[in-house]
Amino acid sequence: MSLPVINQRSVTARRGCPEPETLLPYGHQSIDDDDIRAVLEVLRSDWITTGPKIAEFEQAFAAYVNSKYAVCFSSGTAALHGASFAAGLGPGDEAITTPMTFCATANCVLYQGAKPVFADICPDTLNIDPEEIKRRITQHTKAVLPVDYAGHPADLELILELSDRHKLIVIEDACHALGAEYRGRRVGALSHMTVFSFHPVKHITTGEGGMVTTDNGQFAQRLRMFRNHGIDCDARQRESNGSWHYDMVSLGYNYRLTDFGCALGLSQLRKLDTNLARRRQIANQYTAAFQKTPGVTPLAVRREVNPAWHLYPIKLDLATLRVGRSEIFAALRAVGLGVNVHYIPVHLHSYYRKNFGYRIGDYPAAEGVYEQLITLPMFHGMSDHNLDYVIEAVRKVVDGYAV
Ligand SMILES: *Cc1c(COP(=O)(O)O)cnc(C)c1O
Repeated sequence: MSLPVINQRSVTARRGCPEPETLLPYGHQSIDDDDIRAVLEVLRSDWITTGPKIAEFEQAFAAYVNSKYAVCFSSGTAALHGASFAAGLGPGDEAITTPMTFCATANCVLYQGAKPVFADICPDTLNIDPEEIKRRITQHTKAVLPVDYAGHPADLELILELSDRHKLIVIEDACHALGAEYRGRRVGALSHMTVFSFHPVKHITTGEGGMVTTDNGQFAQRLRMFRNHGIDCDARQRESNGSWHYDMVSLGYNYRLTDFGCALGLSQLRKLDTNLARRRQIANQYTAAFQKTPGVTPLAVRREVNPAWHLYPIKLDLATLRVGRSEIFAALRAVGLGVNVHYIPVHLHSYYRKNFGYRIGDYPAAEGVYEQLITLPMFHGMSDHNLDYVIEAVRKVVDGYAV
């Protein structure tokens, strides 16, 4: 695998620069020979799906996050859907989540016929604000879905306290936060259910894939059934007990992950700590540089957390700049940075506006910060040279547009 190399001509901030041939992406997978060997071994075996690698991956993953159970799915989105089902969400129920996320976090509530209710964010971490959650709780609220934005765990203590008081189920969307810690404990065993994604830009990949971790055996059982059509046992169990009989007891889906995907996941999991260490090193250098750069502000990091840094977003101090985010974005693209924006607040997407009547102004913190956001490259395989280049490029571009 070769990582994209950025054009090394001097950084210019002029508009209208042609885009360099290759962009340094905001995220990228790392696949090595061990990963490839692990996948090939499964492809040559008898079970390429629903075989022994499923349980092996699930057990290794549960051990990593210190949860009792882990149930894998065909994507992070399918895992979120499974968690919404296991939580018992249905028509008439409400689930509170953040607008500053990928739309899948809210969509999984809709899949179950329930209603997502947004609660505004803390503008320094961009995580859901527990005070805002409190304001949105009604007699219909059944679940809360906090997102660990950029890999920084949400205010879990306050959220779990609220959930205890109001009998809510906490489904933590930790798709950004594999390996993150909250008060010294790994994300994955803190909420009632925790959801991870193995999309290639995330910390570890299975191609497409996801996982739900939980300490609750009933949730685990419902999750397993849901990913297999709502059927009470899988093909491998039937083969081993020599019977044709199965019973579909609830409406589920085919959300199974393949054995070769799990083999890739297992191999990737072994390298997660190295990957995390590199991400933290990159984040520390970015933060040290950008704390001293006029025109940009890094995100805040709370004392009780150790973030996993899936993303590295910065906030532009628009009052100190002559242009808006889109000009800065274009200038960074023009010098080879594959910058991105995470996220367009979910309530502002056409579907949500049309069906729920959301308007600009409904969530001022999320909307305000959205105008300032730019996600910089952050992945395990980034070189020191790449890192220095990003820092220099951001400084020059932002300085070039200072008022
Ligand atoms: C990636 C992601 C998802 C969806 O995961 P997929 O594996 O792409 O389906 C959900 N929520 C958040 C916050 C994500 O970043």
